[in-house]
Order: sequence, then C-alpha cells, then structure tokens
Amino acid sequence: MNDNRVIENPFELRPCPFCGGKAKFKSTYNSNDPTTILFDIGCSGCGIRLPHFGELKVKLWDSGIFEITKDERSKLIKEWNGVNVKDEKDL
Ligand SMILES: [Zn+2]
Repeated sequence: MNDNRVIENPFELRPCPFCGGKAKFKSTYNSNDPTTILFDIGCSGCGIRLPHFGELKVKLWDSGIFEITKDERSKLIKEWNGVNVKDEKDL
C-alpha cells in the first residue's frame, strides 16, 4: 500500500516568477453584491498581484441547492501560471 498519494490540486499555483514566493488567492467581497466574491492571485513574498480581479458568484436556491453560478478561478490561475513561463529570453 502506498499512502503517499499525490493529490492533484486543480487550483495549484506556480511560485512567483519574480521572487519564488508562494502564490495565494486573496478574496474580498463586493459590497454592492454580497453574492459575489472577488479575488485575485498574488505573491506572499514580494506582494506582486495580477492586475485585475476574478469573480466567484454563488447562489442558494430556495430548494436548498447551493450553486456556483460564476467561477473565474481557472481563468486567473491560467493567467498567473502563464506569467511564470520562462519567456524572458533576453535577460
Ligand atoms: Zn514574489
């Protein structure tokens, strides 16, 4: 038996391309719309962040079903992880 299972995290963020620090989600709330969570991705080391927010929108239906009606996490993850691609050939 192998207990060292690798858990594939679909929300895995690459380390910061500038300082190698750990990247994290940071959320905030839209006071005009309490069903929307705004978030961005940034580095916990140097503090650099993506230039814009993504949205996560949730709804609790009267049947009790909890639904995510908008989810831009993967979009921002792609943006963050894309920044890290080593395309700075002229350094
Ligand atoms: Zn950094």
